[in-house]
Amino acid sequence: MDYAIALVPGDGIGPEVLGPATEVLDVVGDHYGHVFHYVELEAGGKAIDSCGEPLPRETLEAAKQCDALLLGAVGGPKWDTLPGQLRPERALLGLRAGLGVFANLRPAALLPQLKDACPLKDEVLCRSNPQGKPHFDLLIVRELTGGLYFGARGRGNEGKSAFDTETYSWEEIERVLRIGYTAARLRRKRLCVVDKANVLESSRLWREVAAAVAQEYQDIETSYLYVDNCAMQLIRAPGQFDVIVTSNLFGDILSDEASVLTGSIGMLPSASLSSFVPGHKGPMGMYEPIHGSAPDIAGQDIANPLGTILSGAMLLRYSFNLEEAAAAVEAAVQTVLDAGLRTKDILNRSAVYGTEKKEKTEKLVGTKAMGEAVCRALAQTWA
Ligand code: NAD
Repeated sequence: MDYAIALVPGDGIGPEVLGPATEVLDVVGDHYGHVFHYVELEAGGKAIDSCGEPLPRETLEAAKQCDALLLGAVGGPKWDTLPGQLRPERALLGLRAGLGVFANLRPAALLPQLKDACPLKDEVLCRSNPQGKPHFDLLIVRELTGGLYFGARGRGNEGKSAFDTETYSWEEIERVLRIGYTAARLRRKRLCVVDKANVLESSRLWREVAAAVAQEYQDIETSYLYVDNCAMQLIRAPGQFDVIVTSNLFGDILSDEASVLTGSIGMLPSASLSSFVPGHKGPMGMYEPIHGSAPDIAGQDIANPLGTILSGAMLLRYSFNLEEAAAAVEAAVQTVLDAGLRTKDILNRSAVYGTEKKEKTEKLVGTKAMGEAVCRALAQTWA
């Protein structure tokens, strides 16, 4: 089958991590007889430089014609002093809103190969894990097109005061909760709504909506947690969580926190969806690693491409319903980690946190070599 994939390489390490991800997709396409047509589009700092705005209209229109969008990352110090509306990150908000992808799925699991890269002790990892094992596997479902990032904002008092607004409608909360519940049904059937209902009115609405929607998902255990407590529980006992559903702002922050527990922010993928019906080809979705453009390491061939490669796997699963292909990519990533291949971010953390001397069995590789290794692992699976 033929598929059109919009590619937004973006800035910093964005193009470096996107290259390996498309190479992996091509290996998958060759094996399964699918053709992926890539439509490369500009957004972010690159687009500001070439046409003066972070999200050119042509980019959004062209993206809408594709079956899925895969993005590297946008932003960087070069554009940091521009006014808010012209910052590269506005491109992300514009794409998410323009494509109507309101639910951002961010899985964060501790792979056994990277256990030593996790900063938590075994006893902490075992705590609250149902099997008592040093492991966690959670999914953060972040609302993506509402809340503080999309509310009214501005300055007053000649620039000496500022405001941002958190607004949520019943419908916005309900639809993201339903995606969370759908995901929970495929997992361990537990869903935690994270908010700040002791202070924020918008959070109190989240609780009301959740209480109503939960009635339809009696097979799922629903719980509630304030965001400050959740931030604490994530490092105290991450194994207690299955699916977390939360607002745009809280999801952004909590998923970065969770990423550190998995070894590196470079490992984690994400999928932004407008609907989720398991086992069916989804509508246009947007896929990207959860990290940013990492200007500090750009151009050095040291960025970890696995988060982007795994975002490609999510694309195969959610937008194209190619479950077998998605699982093959995920297995290939595990194979290269089993073989001891590590980009600098995960090798370094092993050395810092590991309980054993792992450096001898781990081999430092660059961005390109890591991507090539995943391609080879896939080819070997099918040899
Ligand atoms: P960041 O995620 O870019 O980097 C945080 C830290 O993680 C850095 O030390 C970086 O080197 C490291 N890191 C990130 N990705 C990595 C990878 N794949 N491999 C190895 N190490 C990795 O966050 P930041 O420094 O806060 O932001 C940098 C720029 O990215 C800013 O302009 C920010 O606005 C932008 N940003 C973009 C997105 C996006 O495009 N989705 C998301 C977050 C931040």
